[in-house]
Amino acid sequence: MEAATPYLVVAVLLGLLVGSFLNVLIHRLPLMMERAWAKECAALSDLPEPVHPPLNLLVPRSRCGHCGHQLGWMENIPVLSFLVLRGRCAACGTAIAWRYPVVELLTAALFAYCVARWGTGPQAVLWAAFGCLLLACAWIDWDTTYLPDDLTLGLLWLGLVSASLGYSGVRLDEALWGAVAGYLSLWLVFWMFKLLTGKDGMGYGDFKLFAALGAWFGWTALVPLIFLASCTGAAVGLVMKSRTALREGGVVPFGPFLAGAGFVAMVVEPGYLLSRLGL
Ligand SMILES: [Zn+2]
Repeated sequence: MEAATPYLVVAVLLGLLVGSFLNVLIHRLPLMMERAWAKECAALSDLPEPVHPPLNLLVPRSRCGHCGHQLGWMENIPVLSFLVLRGRCAACGTAIAWRYPVVELLTAALFAYCVARWGTGPQAVLWAAFGCLLLACAWIDWDTTYLPDDLTLGLLWLGLVSASLGYSGVRLDEALWGAVAGYLSLWLVFWMFKLLTGKDGMGYGDFKLFAALGAWFGWTALVPLIFLASCTGAAVGLVMKSRTALREGGVVPFGPFLAGAGFVAMVVEPGYLLSRLGL
């Protein structure tokens, strides 16, 4: 579908705004989860509940991570503020992480792609939501090795809904069995690996994320998806090992590579991928 230029411009602007929100989500959701766990631990062990200033996706307003300077609206414009401030906090001059404008630009590109390919209807909205959730999963997993249920299970449900509405290009039964087989296959690999080596090769979040991809692309896409994710994951792991860039414990989270495979599948039709792999 050919989208008119004004729609693409709106998509890019909307993408920048949503990307700005994704930055907040990527930064705060793991902190919110850790606080909730600490609270539960305290409640179970009869310890006093840890006291923190309020933190959610809306409160407090964005601040400089170094000096606590609260950002005015002029300093909070996606990408533009980063360029105007030359990547430094206006108050203390500390460098702002390049990831903030990168997430905003990636989201803008995602929105433009969705509108260019699917027009301005609900199908484009669902695929944009797919991309946003995947982006947040990938980034949070890379940072923290968490894959929040709020994101992975949301992605899974959205995949089933999209299939039932005919927006994802797979039938509902294909999507359902994709979710089941996606979860079970990694669950089996996890337990085989654990019984053989005594180690955890991945986390339960990975099963849920793969189940979600199964819901979006159908069970037939699972093999090429896992093949792609494993190959890129292994390659990046080897490069990081050779540069001793691995974090403590040598863990390379698998979620970002599953997410990457999901993006590839979104752009390249799974059927096309299958035929190229001769499957
Ligand atoms: Zn500062």
